[in-house]
Amino acid sequence: MRRSTARLADGREIIYFDDTPDAPPRTAADTRDLPEQQPRSEIRRDPLTGEWVAMAAHRQTRTYKPPADLCPLCPSTPGRPTEVPESSYDVVVFENRFPSFAATVPMVEPTVFGLPMAARAPGRGRCEVVCFTAEHTTSFGQLPPGRVRTVMDAGADRTEALAALPGIEQVFPFENRGEEIGVTLHHPHGQIYGYPFVTPRTGRMLAVAAEYQAEHGRPVMGDLLAAEQAAGTRVVASSDHWTAFVPPAARWPVEVHVVPHRQVPDLPALTDAERDDFAHLYLDVLRRLDGLYGRPLPYVAGWHQAPVRSGRDLAWLHLEVFSVLRAADKLKYLAGSESGMAVWINDVTPEQIADRLRSAV
Ligand SMILES: [Zn+2]
Repeated sequence: MRRSTARLADGREIIYFDDTPDAPPRTAADTRDLPEQQPRSEIRRDPLTGEWVAMAAHRQTRTYKPPADLCPLCPSTPGRPTEVPESSYDVVVFENRFPSFAATVPMVEPTVFGLPMAARAPGRGRCEVVCFTAEHTTSFGQLPPGRVRTVMDAGADRTEALAALPGIEQVFPFENRGEEIGVTLHHPHGQIYGYPFVTPRTGRMLAVAAEYQAEHGRPVMGDLLAAEQAAGTRVVASSDHWTAFVPPAARWPVEVHVVPHRQVPDLPALTDAERDDFAHLYLDVLRRLDGLYGRPLPYVAGWHQAPVRSGRDLAWLHLEVFSVLRAADKLKYLAGSESGMAVWINDVTPEQIADRLRSAV
């Protein structure tokens, strides 16, 4: 894999990850006359729940479902420059032009005006876009295993790079796929968020992991993994280094967690063998997801990594994939109980989901 970096016309960083042996040097200049963006996001801490919320009002003007011949993620062609100046690429990562978090966000007052209990801070972090392939009309599940490996390597590279930036506390690589998830660009791509705080879900999982570790002297994920492998009823697929299973208390009508057999905090800690092995297993899982309703499944897939500075000995890297689709043409909505109280009501059991996914190829 060859890594090369450049700058876009407005100063944003772009990084090419090439796995094609004869890939040309990435030297194309961004010829666009692109005004520099001034992201103005801020974060505010809810004084009652203690959770941070980001406000990024400048994102209202972002590109919304452009026609395919105007896709900003396709390579540039003569007379039609895009976000990627090169005429081809394998995997490319660049800073989001409309970020929720950015390093250059101006300072704000430390509390909301008149509310000393409501902390406030600039939304300083980083948001990146990852293009998995130069091909517009394909999907992650159709990538060859070697390309999935390159995406893994890019994710590990970006995790290390973002973790080294001042103020970033957690790095979250994820993919949103499908219009039902709210995807505005159809080109196969993901995103990487560098948050200026530890996310609520990770904070909760680390607290539970700490409690379990104190009581049993072992990591909860390790014990869960061994028990799932022994039970087998919720296991969807497994390989030398990974097991994919439906969690015992699945919240979504389709939900699969892909867990490495070794406790590692994040993507950079995975070995070559674990990365290669993941590519094959994950492609198998994605084939099953698309086979479930006989249509491309809209999904969210996200890497749960240890925070940058805390809980690194407690966390256990894993990927969580879920879908909002409860039938081929029916969406699960986050209604009163889910959105109001964070209490999920699932009308299918995890064992049924696993059973359907095992036979969905
Ligand atoms: Zn495209």
